[in-house]
Order: sequence, then structure tokens, then C-alpha cells
Amino acid sequence: MAELSALIKGYREFYKKYFASGSTLYEELKKTGQSPKTLIIACSDSRVDPSIITSADPGDIFVIRNVANIVPPCEKSDSGLHGVSAALEFGVCVLGVRHIVVLGHSNCAGIHSLLNSDNVDGTDFIAKWVNVASAAKEKTIRENPQAKESVLQHSCEKESILLSLNNLLTFPWIKSRIEEKKLKLHGWYFAIADGSLHEYNPKKELFDKIPVE
Ligand SMILES: [Zn+2]
Repeated sequence: MAELSALIKGYREFYKKYFASGSTLYEELKKTGQSPKTLIIACSDSRVDPSIITSADPGDIFVIRNVANIVPPCEKSDSGLHGVSAALEFGVCVLGVRHIVVLGHSNCAGIHSLLNSDNVDGTDFIAKWVNVASAAKEKTIRENPQAKESVLQHSCEKESILLSLNNLLTFPWIKSRIEEKKLKLHGWYFAIADGSLHEYNPKKELFDKIPVE
């Protein structure tokens, strides 16, 4: 895994590509401001970087990352600190993104913590945060009473994506834009073991694999 020195080297490569090669991308982005069409909510997991997975360029996607890619429901702004909600509001109301993708993934430590709460007992923030998705845990266990742990884990990772999609609808400015067909929601699931990406199909109530060719 990359040491900090390797990241500095990587920065130099980035600089060459976008600033020392005659590329005008950043010049344009500075002039016009950012106008990404897509907002992605992803896990903080180092293996699931949405920009890398989608080969996106600077300016392409507005990204929110947190433990287990969870979207909390809309709550009054004076009820606490709302980093995810503020970023959603900025992406949707200020930038006017056309798509919101909730990108979940396999082997998610956050979902593992949600399913095995003894794992994170005593943590200052993690247990409370992942419990925002407790309804996904309850549904997974209810629907798979005899399942082994790996099945529960995969199932809960996907249920949590669906819960976050539902929670997005609790924000009035998201709901209204969807009704006006200005905004679409998507659920994606990335499998770390084989690199496959799956998109939720609401008609089939299943995640369909996105073809690689
Ligand atoms: Zn994760």
C-alpha cells in the first residue's frame, strides 16, 4: 500500500497531467465553476473511491463519503450537525446535479459493525452512526433468519443502499426535483472480490450486473 511519499509522487503525476501538459481542464473549471451532473455517496473505504471506479475527471462528480455510505433521514437543521445533509443540499440545490448515486460495496466494515454491534461498543461515534441504518439490519435479519454471516453481510450492504435511497426522499428539495423529473436516484453496489458493479433495478427489486464491455 502506498506510503505518503508515493502519494506525493502521485500528486506530481496529477500536476503534469492537468497543469503542465497544456490541459485546459482546470482553467475551464476555474472560469465556469464546477457543474457536475452526478452526486455520489460512497463509503470512506479506501478500496471504493468513486472517482477511481468511474475513471472520472476533475469536475465530473460531487462526492460525499462516510462510514458505510449512509444517508440519514432529513432532520431539522437545529437538531444536530448535518454534514451529509449540507453536502446534499449544496449538490442538489446549488449545483443542480441530475443524478444521485448511493454506492455501496462488499466487505464493508461499517455494515459489519452495524450487524455485530459488540464490535463497536464503546466507540465515540461509529456505533451511533452506523445505527442510522438499523432498519436495514432488522429487515435483513427478518428476511434471512437462518442465513450465515457472509449472506447477512451482503444482504445488509444492499438493504442499506435501499434505505439510503428512501432517506433521500425525505429531503423535500430532492423529492420535488424527482417529481419534476429534474433528478434521478440510483443504487450501485461494488463487489471488491471481482470488481463487478451492480445497479439496482426497482422493477425487478434486484441489483443487475453492469456489463464490462
Ligand atoms: Zn464500507
